[in-house]
Amino acid sequence: MATLIDPEVERNEILRHYRRLLRTAKPYLSGNDAKLIKKAFNTSLEAHKEMRRKSGEPYILHPLAVAQIAVEEIGLGTTSIVAALLHDVVEDTPWEISDVEREFGPRVAQIVDGLTKISGVFEYGTSEQAENFRKMLLTLSEDVRVILIKIADRLHNMRTLDSMPRHKQLKIASETIYLYAPLAHRLGLYAIKSELEDLYLKYTDTEVYNDLTNKVRQSRGARNRFIKEFVTPIDEELKAQGFGFEIKGRPKSIYSILRKMRKQNVTFDEVYDLFAIRVILDVPQEQEKAACWQVYSIVTDFYQPNPDRLRDWVSTPKANGYESLHTTVMSRTGQWVEVQIRSRRMDDIAEKGYAAHWKYKDTGSVQPESTLEAWIAKVREMLETNNSSALEFMDEFRQNLFVKEVYAFTPKGKLVILPDKATALDFAFEIHTHIGLQCLGAKVNQKLEPLSYQLRNGDQVEILTSQKQRPTEEWLQYVITSKARTKIKDWLRDDKRNKAEDGRFIVEKRLELLGVENNQDNLNRMLAHFNMYNPQDFYYRIALGQLDGREIKESLFDPAIEVPRIPSMLEPKAFDQEVQKIRGVRADMLVIGEETQKFDYTIAPCCNPIPGDDVFGFETEKGIVIHRTSCPKAVEMMSNYGNRIVRAKWTDQLELAFLAGIRIKGSDRVGLVNDVTRIISNSLKVNMRSITIDSNDGFFEGQIMVFVNDTDHLNKMIHRLSKVNGVLMVERFAS
Ligand code: MN
Repeated sequence: MATLIDPEVERNEILRHYRRLLRTAKPYLSGNDAKLIKKAFNTSLEAHKEMRRKSGEPYILHPLAVAQIAVEEIGLGTTSIVAALLHDVVEDTPWEISDVEREFGPRVAQIVDGLTKISGVFEYGTSEQAENFRKMLLTLSEDVRVILIKIADRLHNMRTLDSMPRHKQLKIASETIYLYAPLAHRLGLYAIKSELEDLYLKYTDTEVYNDLTNKVRQSRGARNRFIKEFVTPIDEELKAQGFGFEIKGRPKSIYSILRKMRKQNVTFDEVYDLFAIRVILDVPQEQEKAACWQVYSIVTDFYQPNPDRLRDWVSTPKANGYESLHTTVMSRTGQWVEVQIRSRRMDDIAEKGYAAHWKYKDTGSVQPESTLEAWIAKVREMLETNNSSALEFMDEFRQNLFVKEVYAFTPKGKLVILPDKATALDFAFEIHTHIGLQCLGAKVNQKLEPLSYQLRNGDQVEILTSQKQRPTEEWLQYVITSKARTKIKDWLRDDKRNKAEDGRFIVEKRLELLGVENNQDNLNRMLAHFNMYNPQDFYYRIALGQLDGREIKESLFDPAIEVPRIPSMLEPKAFDQEVQKIRGVRADMLVIGEETQKFDYTIAPCCNPIPGDDVFGFETEKGIVIHRTSCPKAVEMMSNYGNRIVRAKWTDQLELAFLAGIRIKGSDRVGLVNDVTRIISNSLKVNMRSITIDSNDGFFEGQIMVFVNDTDHLNKMIHRLSKVNGVLMVERFAS
C-alpha cells in the first residue's frame, strides 16, 4: 500500500530526533562538540538522502537512533556520536574512508572503517563468518568503541525487526543471540543484553514470549504489593539514618525467566525470584564500600540472609566491571528475595556498561588499570597466541564469553581471574609460560595439590616448579584455557621435532657405519621393515629407543622387501582401493565360517577381526590368517607381499563368538567399573575375557576383551557403554 509522503512532516520528524540526540548529549559536550555533531548529522543526511529503510522511513532515522543509543544507553561521547551518525555512510553511499578522515579526522575514520569491515553477516558455522568475527575482535583490540557502536546498531535493528521478511528476522535474531547478546554481557551492558535476548525470543518463539509477557503483566499488582511491604522497614531505617537512596523492585527479563523455568523444570508460578530489589545509594565514591555494608547490615536486621547467597562484587569487581553487593534474604511470607546493594556510580556501570563510567576523553585513551582494559588485553593475547583455524577460534572465544570466572590469588596476594573449572596448571601458565612449562604441582592454601587441581574461589596458589619438569601429552587434559593449551602444544611439537632430528642423526651414523648410501630407497626399506609410514615418526621413535636401531642392518638386507615401494605415500583412504586391486588378482574367495570350507584359517591376533568387518586372508606357512583391512600391518602386507593376499568375506549364517577389544576412557568415580561390567555381562550377555582399568588423577582408562558375535553386537555394546555416566570415550582397538 502506497502512503503519501509529506516532505514537511518528514523533515520535522528528522529534526525532532536530531534535537533529542543533542539534548541527551548536552551534559557531556564541550568546545566544538556540538558543531562537529551537527556537521556529521548534515553529512549523513545528505549521503543517505535517497535511501529509505525497509519500513519506508527515511534512512537517516537509523543512524540517528544508533547515535541516541550510544549516548543514552551506553554513555559514549562525541567521537562515538559522530561515528554512529556516519556508520553506514561508507558502506551504502559513494563516500569513502578518506573522505571521512578528511572531514572528521583519523579517529572517527578508524572507527567507521572498523564498523564497515565487520558489516558482513555472521552466518553460523561458515569460515567466512569466523573470519569476519576475527576481524571484529581485532578492531575491538584497537578501539572498543567499534564494538559498542556495533551493538547499538544491532539493538536498533532488533527493535525495528518487524518490517523485515521472516527469513531475515530469523537470521538476524539468531545471530544476535549467538554473538551480540554474549558480547554485550561480556562488556557489562546488562540492560542491552536483556533487551536483545527478549527481542530474540519475541521473533523466534512469539507464542512463548507473549504468554510470559502476559503472565508478568497479570502478576504485577500482587508483586508490587509484596515489594512495598517488603521494603517499608528498610526504607524507614535508611531514612532515619540519613541515607540518600532509591529503592527499585524490577521484574527479571522474559528471557531469563524462561531460562530459569527450563533449567529448573518449573512453571512460571514456581519461579520464586521473578524480581530483585535494588537499593541505590547516593554516596561519594570513597564512602561506597562502607555504605554498602552498612545497608547490608540494615537489610539483614529485618530479614534472615541465606549465607550461601552472599556475593561481594564491591571488594572484587567482575572482569567486565560489574560492582554490587548481593544477598538473598527470607521475606516474612517465606519467600527468598534477592537484594542488590550498590552506589549510583555502580548502578550506572551495571546498566550501561563500563563505558558509562569511563567516559572516553576524545583522545580515546583508556584508564590503564581498568578491568575492561585488562579484558581487552586478554582478547588481544588470544588473537596473538591462537593458531587454530578461524572457526575453532570463534567457538573457543564464544565459550569464553559465557563462562563463569574463578578468582584465585598468588602468594603475594595478586588477583588472578581465570575461567571457571581452570586448574592449577592453567594458573601456572597464566602467571608465565616458563612457570607453566616447568610446573610440578601447586601448594593451594598451604596444601600440596596435583597439576590437575581445579581452582576454587579464593584459593591462594603457589606454583611449584622444577628445572627437570617437562610437559607431556597428558597435560592437555588438565588445562582449559587456550593460552595454556597452545603453549603446551607448541612445546610438544618442538620437542618432537628436536627428538626426530636426534633420531635422524642416529640413523645416518649407522648407515655410514654400514657403508650404505643414505637415499630414498633405503629409507623406504627401513620404513617398510619397521612398519612406519612417516620418516618423522620413524626418527622420533628411534631416538626414544622404541625402535631398535640394531635392526636397521637387517632391514636393509631383508630379502622379503624386494620392491622399494613408498609405503609412506599410502594414505589410509587408499587402503580400500589397494585391497580391491589385490583381491582382484585371485579368483577364489575365502568364505569364513562356511561349513564346507576349503581353507584352514586362523583369526589374526593383531587386529581381532569379527564377522561384519572388512577382511582379507594372508597366506603363511601355518595356513591362512584373517586380518581386518584396517589392521595396522595391512599396508605392509599388501605393499610387500601382494601375492600372499587372499580375498575373504564372512558367511551370513554364523553363530560363533569372536574376541574383540574395547578401549574406554572417562572421569573416574565410585562404582564405575561395576556399572560397566553390569552392562556387558547382565544386559548384553556378553562374555568378558579380561578387563583392566587404570585410574590416574581423576581419569580412568581401561581395556576390556569380550567375545561377540559380529560387529552389530559389538557396536550395540559400545553404544550402551558410551551412555554410562562418566564415560567420555569408547572405541574398539585393533591389538
Ligand atoms: Mn546500521
